[in-house]
Amino acid sequence: MNSTEEFDVVVVGGGPGGSTLAALVAKQGHSVLLLEKEFFPRYQIGESLLPSTIHGVCKLTGADEEIAKAGFPVKKGGTFRWGANPEPWKFEFAVSPRMAGPTSTAFQVERSKFDKILLDNARKVGAEVREGCAVSDIREEGERVTGVRYTDDKGEKREVAARFVVDASGNKSRLNTKLGGHREYSDFFRNLALFGYFEGGKRLPEPSRNNILCVAFDSGWFWYIPLSDTLTSVGAVVRRDMAEKVQGDPEKALQALIDECPMISDYLSPARRVTEGQYGEIRVRKDYSYHHTSYWRPGMMLVGDAACFVDPVFSSGVHLATYSALLAARSINSVLAGTVEEEAAMTEFETRYRREYGVFYEFLMSFYDMHQVEGSYFWEAKKLTRNSSSDIESFVDLVGGVSSGEAALADGEAVAKRLNAQNQEFAEAVEAISDGDNDNWAPLLGSSVVREAMTESSKVQMHASLGEDAEEETPLFEGGLIPSPDGMSWVHA
Ligand code: FAD
Repeated sequence: MNSTEEFDVVVVGGGPGGSTLAALVAKQGHSVLLLEKEFFPRYQIGESLLPSTIHGVCKLTGADEEIAKAGFPVKKGGTFRWGANPEPWKFEFAVSPRMAGPTSTAFQVERSKFDKILLDNARKVGAEVREGCAVSDIREEGERVTGVRYTDDKGEKREVAARFVVDASGNKSRLNTKLGGHREYSDFFRNLALFGYFEGGKRLPEPSRNNILCVAFDSGWFWYIPLSDTLTSVGAVVRRDMAEKVQGDPEKALQALIDECPMISDYLSPARRVTEGQYGEIRVRKDYSYHHTSYWRPGMMLVGDAACFVDPVFSSGVHLATYSALLAARSINSVLAGTVEEEAAMTEFETRYRREYGVFYEFLMSFYDMHQVEGSYFWEAKKLTRNSSSDIESFVDLVGGVSSGEAALADGEAVAKRLNAQNQEFAEAVEAISDGDNDNWAPLLGSSVVREAMTESSKVQMHASLGEDAEEETPLFEGGLIPSPDGMSWVHA
């Protein structure tokens, strides 16, 4: 056993959550060690991004310039064959006046390339990054987590001490069990995803060529994400109980689902499936929708998929990972600088993170609720009004009093009513754009769930662009903290 090294922060996992956290803390001059099990580049799913990750968080870490140089397809929004209207409709990020302009875009990324850029950036701004190092356990002293144990790239067992350990090891995290609490799975989003890659698929007409395309059909829905002029990521989200059939012969199962969905069949008609390299495999993911019941304990925090993930439908995964990393970095930077007590800083992190997760959870429930197909097992189960109250109850448990500014979220029936009214309003907004002028997005902003889902993202973006000139924020709760003018820590309001 080597002698114990010491760092201010040890980060477990070098995905978008871990690299972002490491960069934002190292940039403040603190010592950071990031331990990543794999050697990058490595494969990961989650290719369609939101603008605030690129123009907000990645601007703060300094990774934005390398990302811009990488040549990823520029994503202006999403195109959906979803809801009452049989015609596809689209949503552009420029719909929000606060986001209009050159920052109203995101990218569709090959995650092996994107994640490597973020990891290299963390290294560049001062974090020590060790690849091929798998963390197996934490070190504890009483209540406090004081470091980790890991096996290095030569197979040697090592220990490292730290004032904070951040678990960013993704959905397969084992360390999160050391936090206390447990992982709670969502009934509503309990689906299964089956995905592969195709060369030569069709593209949407300009200006939507690089949009994500989401197509609902009887058995679920498809994503169709252009990763280059010729490469497309294609995935089906279906009922969880199809697992056995899917695992028996994933290739046949994916093809049968494609055949069931006319628009995706048409788009893939000139294409061939990639059968080699990182994209050669058809992959299956299930049980990906969950949240951990707490996000921190003294000396330890969870960010990204280690803490929670909702559903692939609106590209929120990398946003939640990088946003939670920003919140966690602000808390750690404030405590290490001695300006905020640990309890207050961690409460701020957890409350804001839980709120953002709740906002997306609610938005995505509305998204599913909007598409109805009589007699479809998949879509009937997503109809909120017909659902048992257990979904509402789990939603209430999940967000506590922090979602959508709702102070008293204890009454399941009242919440169900509010959600149903919102869903109706959202469905009407979508109908208004798909019925008429497809370039007038204004009705979407009239829908409260859409506004909510965009609010925090646009604040992060404004902060990164304007720095000290950004509007001062108000605390989220009484006695809460606000971001410092440079966005890197918390200050008392
Ligand atoms: P990860 O990206 O999983 O990174 C975790 C890292 O930790 C990995 O590199 C891993 O090797 C490392 N690690 C694991 N264990 C250890 C250990 N013991 N020691 C050291 N290192 C370790 N999100 C989007 O934004 N857009 C999408 O279009 C999208 N589509 C999705 C589709 C599906 C079907 C699913 C399931 C998810 C999708 N997501 C999407 C979500 C997205 O994949 C994740 O939210 C995102 O990758 C989370 O980032 P992360 O940094 O938390 O974790």
